[in-house]
Amino acid sequence: MGLLDKIIGTYSEREVKRLMPIVEKINSYEDEMASLTDKQLADKTEYFKERIQKDGESLDDVLPEAFAVVREASKRVIGLRHFDVQLMGGIILHQGRIAEMKTGEGKTLVATLAVYLNALTGKGVHVVTVNEYLAKRDSEWMGKVYRFLGLTVGLNLSFMSPQEKQNAYACDVTYGTNSEFGFDYLRDNMVIRKSDMVQRDLAFAIVDEVDSILIDEARTPLIISGRSSKSSDLYKQADTFVKRLRKKEIVEEDIKDQEQLDDNEKYDYIVDLKAQSATLTQQGIDKAEKYFNLENYDDIENSDIIHAVDQALHANGVKKRDVDYIVKDGEVLIVDENTGRIMYGRRYSNGLHQAIEAKENVKIAEESKTLATITYQNFFRMYAKLSGMTGTAMTEEAEFKQIYNLDVIEIPTNKPVIRIDHNDVIYKNEAAKFNAIVEEIKATHEKGQPVLVGTVSIDKSEKLSSLLSKTGLKHEVLNAKNHEKEAEIIAQAGKYGAITIATNMAGRGTDIKLGGNSEYLAKQEMRKNGCDEHLIEQADSFNETDDEEVLNARKQLKELIAKYDDEIEEEKQKVIAAGGLKIIGTERHETRRIDNQLRGRSGRQGDPGESVFYLGLDDNLLKLFGGNMITNLLNTGNVPDDMPLPPMKPLSIAIENAQQKIEGRNFSIRKHILSYDDVMNVQREEIYKERRMVLDGEDVHDNIVGMIEDSADMVVDTYLPEIEDGTVNKDSLRAEIINIFNTPDFDALNQEKINPNLLKEEIKMKSVESFNKKLEENGEEFKEVERILLLKSVDDRWMDHIDEMDSLKNGIGLRAYGQKDPVVQYRMEGGQMFEEMVNQIKLDVTKYCMRVGKVQNMERKSSVSIESSGLDRSAIDNMNIEGEASQNIEQARQVSQSKQQPVVNNGPKVGRNDPCPCGSGKKYKNCCGKNA
Ligand code: ADP
Ligand code: MG
Repeated sequence: MGLLDKIIGTYSEREVKRLMPIVEKINSYEDEMASLTDKQLADKTEYFKERIQKDGESLDDVLPEAFAVVREASKRVIGLRHFDVQLMGGIILHQGRIAEMKTGEGKTLVATLAVYLNALTGKGVHVVTVNEYLAKRDSEWMGKVYRFLGLTVGLNLSFMSPQEKQNAYACDVTYGTNSEFGFDYLRDNMVIRKSDMVQRDLAFAIVDEVDSILIDEARTPLIISGRSSKSSDLYKQADTFVKRLRKKEIVEEDIKDQEQLDDNEKYDYIVDLKAQSATLTQQGIDKAEKYFNLENYDDIENSDIIHAVDQALHANGVKKRDVDYIVKDGEVLIVDENTGRIMYGRRYSNGLHQAIEAKENVKIAEESKTLATITYQNFFRMYAKLSGMTGTAMTEEAEFKQIYNLDVIEIPTNKPVIRIDHNDVIYKNEAAKFNAIVEEIKATHEKGQPVLVGTVSIDKSEKLSSLLSKTGLKHEVLNAKNHEKEAEIIAQAGKYGAITIATNMAGRGTDIKLGGNSEYLAKQEMRKNGCDEHLIEQADSFNETDDEEVLNARKQLKELIAKYDDEIEEEKQKVIAAGGLKIIGTERHETRRIDNQLRGRSGRQGDPGESVFYLGLDDNLLKLFGGNMITNLLNTGNVPDDMPLPPMKPLSIAIENAQQKIEGRNFSIRKHILSYDDVMNVQREEIYKERRMVLDGEDVHDNIVGMIEDSADMVVDTYLPEIEDGTVNKDSLRAEIINIFNTPDFDALNQEKINPNLLKEEIKMKSVESFNKKLEENGEEFKEVERILLLKSVDDRWMDHIDEMDSLKNGIGLRAYGQKDPVVQYRMEGGQMFEEMVNQIKLDVTKYCMRVGKVQNMERKSSVSIESSGLDRSAIDNMNIEGEASQNIEQARQVSQSKQQPVVNNGPKVGRNDPCPCGSGKKYKNCCGKNA
């Protein structure tokens, strides 16, 4: 057994060895499974479920038999029998690890094993792919096997309705992209009704191309932004109203007697500059009712108005122009009270900024703000079990371990790799290098050997393409704009004499078959025979149907594929004779992984092949990291431009070192981003937990009672120093108490000398009593009101808080902190802000609950509206990197950033005749919308 020979030494090899007995066990079931009828085979699913869900057997117990069932089903349904190495990969996935398996080893099929086994728990397995085209392809292709075995399969796409998504998530297996799974999680924590949530618990995810997703894409957090649903008109109205009022300003602790109380009646609101508060008097409240045409100002339904008026009072009464803020070019800018400096870009939260803008009669900014964010790291860490597969994970082993606690196991290839990897070929400069590459392509092409050329950017692809055109060489260029078209081009890249140019991002998910792709040729012939595109698509789909026309088309396609398979076999032999697929890299990429991916395109499943990288001394990587060596090389040799330099080991080592350095740097950038998000994560989890409790319809009455009691402590404690030294201004204390507890009716407040503890206890007792009475009077229905009020308070404050945390993060990244670690600062300040927010929520809840009367027709209303979901580029932009290579990193980063495409999915619903958003180029109704 060739496989066994290799088993010595490394961690992976030892781990693989441990899998052997399991593989043998699986194999031992093969004959038994083959003897079953289709029905008997499918019935195994119920049988396993019973063993697991009822008899409490572990997944490991049933693994060998279950894997044997999947293999047999796959053989019958899609004609693929899992290789032994694929069984190994499946076990590794099930164990929650990363299976490194080379391109073309059939990872799509590997996933079926772990998916099936884990779906038996009934908890739902997610298969995560890099784009929606692949999600759809794989879910249909592999879906046949699952469905045959009685599992349900769902596809989660970005433009689906919540209902469609719910259905997809309810399935045993759900395919989708990383960003969509992440956004759904964030959106689920913004809904106001449980019935609007789409995801179930995050149980098990298998991430395909796991390095792309958990490493490369993890540099940019997911972000949802939107705006508050409060209108700017309301701020203007409130401002106009407040400007008409008579204000009393308490500067000193003034007179505190009856005289003053009488005096107060002449005023509409009282401002206490020391306490920084502004509150309506009864007279002011009367006026508000008239102005806003309200029956009872304090009614909970008027909370938006009350809020706007409160902020307008604060803006007009407390905040002073040119002290607290300045107005410049139609903008309200905050002045830092400590330094007197203007804090550009900062805004007061919770509507105060808008109120000041109304006061100053400048445009009220309807700025969109961050409503929710999460990094991929923290999202994927939430899965109870996580696993992944890719051709290239080893170089990032440390990061997978540290960040995700995933270990990487290299699975041997099904057949030995016989590809020849040549030494680097080095030229003095890019121009010489490109000329040499063109020559090489030409020679290779003339031999009939197909060649795949990798470039590091689209720019370079185009440059090379025009050079080839000048030489008259026909070629294809992949530009990664259309995933399906690209898949077809790649499929043909192994034809005799084919020339294909790709940037490193291109071509994932499809492998290159020598001699060409029979499926593609078969479809082309169907097209030529006048078969319409829709039917071809149907012929190539795997969904169940009894449509005669479709069934016929499928039969026809199958026959054509068989015919072309024969033809291709001949061409394949010619290609093999010519040396198989040749890979030419035109430059080293900043990470070894991307180079390896390019190389790995050749030599799949034991095919012959070659790979070679061409370098120029003026390549970015060499310029940045080559140092003196390059200059020396340039000066010493008298090699002409059009000759390659002699092979140089030190240079190749230098490059490898440079790549490792960049990889390390990139890792620290990601760790840095993550450490910020970790601060947020603790807060996010706390709030989301609270929200879920409300959404789940749990009884929150006791929680609210606790909040009311805390509020009593907070309000009194704010005034405590003044109470203790006898300088308290009873009016403003009273006003604040009315503001929160909706009544001044406390004996302890009317004493000559206030006893803070008695006051607290009295407020607590009376407020809780009146709150309990509301529950008694209104009955169970009141509990829903309680939930609505809690949810509203949490959401209002939380959304503001996220946005402030965002500003804080950006600010801290830019602020010079001397020796202080910005992350530590962020954690400290962020923690304080969170605590303040929690206190504000308690006060808000108390305020609402002390005002809510009978159960009115209260409805849950969202506090915000989502504008867009995308990736948070600023997370990298604001990163502060110190140290020697920071500039190099900066450049390297710009290169790689320009390659990333933003994901935004706020688009309108797609029409049936619109192009399908998955990028296939087909009409929606013929593509993803087929079953919609
Ligand atoms: P990877 O993702 O590992 O690069 P794919 O899943 O795209 O590979 O599969 C590559 C090709 O290998 C596909 O055409 C698939 O049909 C084929 N393949 C996978 N597994 C098997 C198998 N057990 N037997 C035969 N062909 C297989
Ligand atoms: Mg794949």
